[in-house]
Amino acid sequence: MAFFHTHIITGPIHSRRLGSSLGVNLSSTKEKVCNYNCVYCECGWNTEWTGHPTLPTCAEVEGALDTALAQLRELNKRPDSITFSGNGEPTLHPDFPAVIAATLRAARKHFPDNPPIVTVISNATQIGRPEIVDALALCNKVLLKLDAGTPHAYALINRLQKGFQLDKISVEQSAEEFYPQLVENLAAYPHPYTLQTLLFRGEYEGERIDNAAGSEWEAYKNQLKRIQPPAIMLYGLDRETPAKQLIKLSAEELEARAEELRALGFNATAFF
Ligand code: SF4
Repeated sequence: MAFFHTHIITGPIHSRRLGSSLGVNLSSTKEKVCNYNCVYCECGWNTEWTGHPTLPTCAEVEGALDTALAQLRELNKRPDSITFSGNGEPTLHPDFPAVIAATLRAARKHFPDNPPIVTVISNATQIGRPEIVDALALCNKVLLKLDAGTPHAYALINRLQKGFQLDKISVEQSAEEFYPQLVENLAAYPHPYTLQTLLFRGEYEGERIDNAAGSEWEAYKNQLKRIQPPAIMLYGLDRETPAKQLIKLSAEELEARAEELRALGFNATAFF
């Protein structure tokens, strides 16, 4: 069953990577809103959508966050992180910068001595936009996705949705055309961040996918040399995936890949 967020705020839940995490969903609570359609997406496949989803307004997000943080303060349960992930890509929200500013305000208001960190988990497609880069720079932790070392694997795994339209955002390029731009945007990203990569193997629509071995893993390492990410987080499948023939890597395999990256001089960590 897909892991779908039915409210703006979820949790706090325990996260493998962030500790106690209060989730914020900037997408619709009725459908996934993403310009990717990853084969492993825990929200399931994109729906046949209208292009006019009802996204929460900045005021609605601020109100929901205010209520949730006030309750947690009463219970003396400060979350470690306020985390933007949800039913899609958070940076697609038309008021993303205002939402981040409101979140920082709410965190300081309710936990002035030790506010929860603000984390954004992003697919990185919008980091070519200066206003998004500026908003992300205000956050404590930014995780940017890169799952593939070649345009072909990128198209297979992340399935950039050519024709996607939302507010002023539209995807005009194919995945193969966009991939070099994504790599260059990551290489040029001017603030601290962690590159997050989900490693797995399997098959989808008759095509074999394996980003953790062979030529694809070598190509990924070459892209890392170009990008020079400040930190790398490798992780494996955790929940049910929409593509059914995907195989989770063992903890030992993930750790071995992280060790390989550390031997190349990267700050890499594996999460199981
Ligand atoms: S980027 Fe995230 S939300 Fe979008 S399809 Fe991929 S896993 Fe799902």
